[in-house]
Amino acid sequence: MAEMMSQLKILSPLSGQTWPLERVPDPVFAQKLVGDGVSIDPTDAVLLAGCDGEVVSLPATGHAVTLRTREGIEVLMHVGIDTVTMKGAGFHPRVKPGDTVHAGDPLIAFDLDFLATHTKSLLTQVVIANSDRVVSCERAGGCVSAGKDILLTVTLKSDGAAPPPAETVAVISEAIVIPNASGLHARPAAVLANLAKSFASTITLQMGDRQVNARSITAIMALDVPRGAKVQVVARGVDARAAVEKLARVLADGCGDEGCVPAPAPATTTTSPLSAPPPRRQPTDPNLLIGVAASPGLAVGEVFQVRRMEIDVAEPGEGVDAERRRLAAALAAAHGQLAALRAQLHAKADPAKAAIFAAHEELISDPDLLEIAESAIAKGKSAGFAWKKAAATHADRLAALRNELLAQRANDLRDVGQRVLSLLTGVDVRPPAYPPNSVLVAEELTPSDTAALDRSRVSGICTTRGGATSHVAILARSLEIPALAGVDPAVLDVPGGTVVILDANDGTLRLHASSEAVAVIRRAQERSELRRRENTARALEPAITLDGRRIEVLANIGGLEDATRIAGLGGEGVGLLRSEFLFMGRRDAPTEEEQFETYKAIAEAVGPGRPLIIRTLDVGGDKPLDYLPIPKEDNPFLGERGVRVGLDRPEILRTQLRAILRATAFGKVSVMFPMIATLNELRDVKAMLCEEAASLGVPPVAAGIMVEVPATAIMAAQFAREANFFSIGTNDLTQYTLAMDRGHPKLARQVDGLTPSVLTLIAHTVRGAQPLGRRIGVCGAIASDPGAVPILLGIGVDELSVSLPAIPAVKAQIRSLRFDECQRLAERALAAESAQEVRALVADPHAQPTSGNAGS
Ligand code: PEP
Ligand code: MG
Repeated sequence: MAEMMSQLKILSPLSGQTWPLERVPDPVFAQKLVGDGVSIDPTDAVLLAGCDGEVVSLPATGHAVTLRTREGIEVLMHVGIDTVTMKGAGFHPRVKPGDTVHAGDPLIAFDLDFLATHTKSLLTQVVIANSDRVVSCERAGGCVSAGKDILLTVTLKSDGAAPPPAETVAVISEAIVIPNASGLHARPAAVLANLAKSFASTITLQMGDRQVNARSITAIMALDVPRGAKVQVVARGVDARAAVEKLARVLADGCGDEGCVPAPAPATTTTSPLSAPPPRRQPTDPNLLIGVAASPGLAVGEVFQVRRMEIDVAEPGEGVDAERRRLAAALAAAHGQLAALRAQLHAKADPAKAAIFAAHEELISDPDLLEIAESAIAKGKSAGFAWKKAAATHADRLAALRNELLAQRANDLRDVGQRVLSLLTGVDVRPPAYPPNSVLVAEELTPSDTAALDRSRVSGICTTRGGATSHVAILARSLEIPALAGVDPAVLDVPGGTVVILDANDGTLRLHASSEAVAVIRRAQERSELRRRENTARALEPAITLDGRRIEVLANIGGLEDATRIAGLGGEGVGLLRSEFLFMGRRDAPTEEEQFETYKAIAEAVGPGRPLIIRTLDVGGDKPLDYLPIPKEDNPFLGERGVRVGLDRPEILRTQLRAILRATAFGKVSVMFPMIATLNELRDVKAMLCEEAASLGVPPVAAGIMVEVPATAIMAAQFAREANFFSIGTNDLTQYTLAMDRGHPKLARQVDGLTPSVLTLIAHTVRGAQPLGRRIGVCGAIASDPGAVPILLGIGVDELSVSLPAIPAVKAQIRSLRFDECQRLAERALAAESAQEVRALVADPHAQPTSGNAGS
C-alpha cells in the first residue's frame, strides 16, 4: 500500500538571514545529529512559535525550546551556539513545559546585545528533532520575517496511525543499586543533575513511590538515597532511551565517586553508615564538653557567643513583575559576589575553598528552589518572603535527612539563602569584628562567615551542629583554626568571656580552665609567636645559606593590595602575579586601559628594580569566566586551559600583552605564560608579544614559561633556547604527573609535590635550563613548605616564590641551611620511593641539613 503523505508548514520564529545548517559552527547541528532544519542569524530578539503545539521541553537555561505539533512532530529551536553555558543569563522564557501555544506566540525573549557579546554565535537552529517521521524538509533561503514567512515545509511520513508522541511513552531503567558509600550526596547528585540537563527529555529519579526531577541537585539530595538503595531512571521525550541508558550507567558506576563497589541490595530503608551519629562519650566532669574534631589544633580563648541574624521580610509583594525583577537582580548580584569570592580564592591558589563557593553558585541556580520562589511570587508574595521560604523549605528538607553528609549541606543552603536575602533587603549580615582571642560558639557558622574569619582574632570555633565533613570544617582547616563540631548544646549557655581550652585533637572543650593549664598552652604559643617575630624582624635581610648561596625569595600575589605588603615582609619582588583576579567576578573582560592602570600601580607598589612577573590569564578548567564561555568539556583540566584559551581568543591575550608592555615603563616587568605544553605554543605567544611590542614601539619584554605540564619539564633543554626564564608551577605539575585532580577532596592528601616523580621532573628542568643560564624558580605551594625548601635548594633552583605570610619564615629557614647538605638531601629524596619517604627524610634530624626549625 502506498504511503500517504502530508505536509507541515513552520513559520519563521525569528526575523533574520537564513543559513544552511551545514555551516553552523557546531558539529552537532552541522552534522544534523539533532535533526534536519535550518539556521537563522537573528535581527530580532523574541523567539516565536512557528506552529501550534505543546511545549515539551524548555531547559532551565531558557536557551532552547521544543514544541510538539498535533502530528507528533517535534520542532527544536535552539538560540545561539553553546548558549547553554550562559546558564540562563540573557534569556527570558515566556512559556513553560506543558503549555499549549499557537503559531506566533512568544516563547523566549533574549537580550540580543548581551548575548551577541557574550556568546560564540547567535545563529538559531530550527530543526525537526524526530526526523524518522519526516520524508523531506524544504528550507527557505535569504531573509525571513518572524511569524510571516514559511521557514520549513516538512513532508511527513504517514502510514495511518501516528506513533504515540514520544513523551507519553516513559522509558524506565532497571533498578540500580546505589554503590556510593555515602549515598547520593552532593557530589554525585551534581554529576547526575548535570548529565540529566544535557538531555532534552523529562527525566526523573524514582525511589519507592517518590519521584524527583533529575535535573535538580537539591531534589536528588532530598530524596535521601542511601548506599544500597534501589532507584530507577524514568525519562519521557525525544532522547529518553539514550538518557536512561546513560544515566543508569553513570549511577551504577557511582557518578564518579571514588572507590564505589557494588552495594548489597536492597537497602531503601536501611540507614547509611554515616547516618548514625557516633556514640557520644559521656564526660563525668561538668566542665568538660565533648565534640567531634573538625579542624585539628589547640586553642585558648574567651567564649564569644555568635547568634544567627533573622532578617524580617514583608509578606505581600508590590506586583508580580516588580518582585520577579527584584529577585532576579538579587540572584544576579549574589552570583557576582560568589564569583568574586571564587576568584579571590583562586588567586590565592585555594581550589578546595573555591569549589565550596562554586557549589553555592550551583545552589542559587537550582531549578526547584527557583520554582518554589517563583510560584510564591506568582501568588502575590514579596520576593524576600518567597525566597526566604524557598530556601528555608529546602534547607529544612536537607537537615531532616538521616544522611549526615547531606544534612550538613543544609547549612550551605541557609548560607546562600541569607546572602540573597541580605541583597534583597539591604540588611547587612556581615559578622562583627570579634575581640582578640575569641573562641566562637554557635549552633552553626556559615561557610561565608567562616571564610571571612580573621585568624588573628579568632583562636577557635565550637559549634553544636555540623561535623568533620562540613564545608565549615574544610574552611576552618584551611585557615588553621582549631574547630570542634557537634558539641553538647549546653555550650550555647556558657557566658561570653568564659576562659576555655579547645582541644580539637582530643575533641574536648574545657570550661573555666585552670590558670596553670592555660599558662602551659600560652607558653608554647608564645614560643612560636616569638619565632615568628624574630623571622619578621630579620625579613629584610637576604636569604643566604650558611655556605654562601643566595636564593631570591619572591611573592605570589593576586592583586594590588598584596603588592603593597611585599616589601614590609621582605619579599624581593613578585614571582607570580595571578592576573586572573582582574578578569574574574565581572560581566566582561577588562579593557587594555584598565589592565594597564592596574599593572602600573602594582609595578609602582613593588618598587623599582624589583622583578614583577605577570602571568597572563590562566582560566579554563577549574576557573571559568562567564563572558568567555568554554564549551562543557569531559576533562576540563585537559582541555582549554591556561595559554590555550589565549591562543584560541587572541584578542584577549593581545589586549593583555599590550597592557603589560605599556607597564614595563614603570618597573622591572616581565611576562610569563601558563600551561605551556609545546614549543609551538611558546612560539605563537612570543610572536604575538613581538607584534604587539612593535605596534606600540617598545622593546619586547622578557618572556618566561610556567612549567606545569610534565611534557615541558621533560623538554626543558629545548624550551631553554626560547624561554627567558622558568617558573615551576608544582601545583599543576603534581596533578598532571600523578593524574590526580589537585582539588579532589579524597585525593588531596596524595597530591604531594614532594613525590619523587615530581622532584625528578623539577631536577630535570633545572638540568635542562641551567646550562643556558636561565633562571629557574618554583612558584607552586611547595615553595612555602618547610619540608620542601631544603630539597628544592639542593636540586638547584634559583628562587622561591611563596605566599605572602610565608616570606619571613622561608627566608629564615634558608639562612639556617647549608647548600652542600641540601644537595645531599636532594639526592636522597630523588632516590626515594614515595612522598612519605621524602617527608620522613626531612623530618629525620640526621638526614636534615643544619637547624631546620626556623621556618616552623
Ligand atoms: C601552579 O600550578 O603551581 C601555580 C602556581 O599556578 P596556579 O596555582 O595558579 O594554577
Ligand atoms: Mg597552575
